[in-house]
Amino acid sequence: MEKTLVLIKPDAIERGMIGRIISRFEDKGLTIVGFKMLSAHAALLEEHYSHLKDKPFFPRIKEFMTTTPIIAMCVAGLDAVDVVRSLCGVTNSRQAAPGTIRGDWGMSIQSNLVHASDSKETAEVEIDRFFEKDEIFEYKRMLENIIYAPDER
Ligand code: ADP
Repeated sequence: MEKTLVLIKPDAIERGMIGRIISRFEDKGLTIVGFKMLSAHAALLEEHYSHLKDKPFFPRIKEFMTTTPIIAMCVAGLDAVDVVRSLCGVTNSRQAAPGTIRGDWGMSIQSNLVHASDSKETAEVEIDRFFEKDEIFEYKRMLENIIYAPDER
């Protein structure tokens, strides 16, 4: 099954939304195959957000992402990268569609509750960035036979 990386950001941690955010992914039928809390240090964030390093708001994101620990999750499912991005909604929470995590619970561009990998290639790199190989669990849930049709798996 395809895997992707989700981060639960400090605004969501502050607001006590860890459980509700995890539930969105579980309710959809995705499988959590890796899960940890960590403090994101500067070097990790500089690597993770390297595509934004020239943006004026880059220092602010780094500061924001270290205000509390964050949760890293590896989530698996068919087309997990696209499915998880859709569940999160667009970057600007004010423009994110109702029904998405950002659309339902966010009002900010920066403090938009979650991070989700934007492609399969990025997901592989990001999962390796946040997890050791033995922290990702390959297991099959019996419920997959209900969540997917046999010819989809
Ligand atoms: P996404 O997280 O939706 O993939 P980006 O990779 O473009 O979006 O940006 C990474 C993160 O940087 C965003 O989730 C958000 O927290 C922050 N960010 C992006 N654009 C802005 C902005 N204009 N002002 C403040 N923070 C921003």
